[in-house]
Amino acid sequence: MSAIRIGNGYDIHRLVPERPLILGGIHIPHELGLLGHSDADVLTHAIMDAMLGALSLGDIGLYFPPSDPQWAGADSLKLLEQVDQLVQNKGWQIGNIDSVVVAERPKLKPHIPAMRDRLAKVLNLAPDQVGVKATTNEKLDATGREEGIAAYAVVLLTQVTG
Ligand code: MG
Repeated sequence: MSAIRIGNGYDIHRLVPERPLILGGIHIPHELGLLGHSDADVLTHAIMDAMLGALSLGDIGLYFPPSDPQWAGADSLKLLEQVDQLVQNKGWQIGNIDSVVVAERPKLKPHIPAMRDRLAKVLNLAPDQVGVKATTNEKLDATGREEGIAAYAVVLLTQVTG
């Protein structure tokens, strides 16, 4: 087995009224929020799927099924901590993460440093190991029509030796 592994993750949630908008664990002021069983933090979900994918451990639906009431309204950062623990237990650590959030609105750029700091803190990483980028979808498709927000992530894992 090689000493590095790569994983990718994708997630999308619907934008609806009367829900908070939480991305990378940061509450972002907006008139719409993401619908989901947990807090619907698409960015954190994409990162978790990338971490699990790097070790062929399945996806977050396997560990935190939406049918299980214990995950209702769950703080996704708590789930991220659990996935990180699983990765560490398998003898791996994160080299770096890169991610993209696709949202037409609101403007995410002012919130990116806070998202990176929050994710880095939960994962015991330096903020420069956690890339978060934001883009619009140029008004195309569901994200462009503000029907939802999507996120993509890639994660590089390195094997812990000794
Ligand atoms: Mg999700």
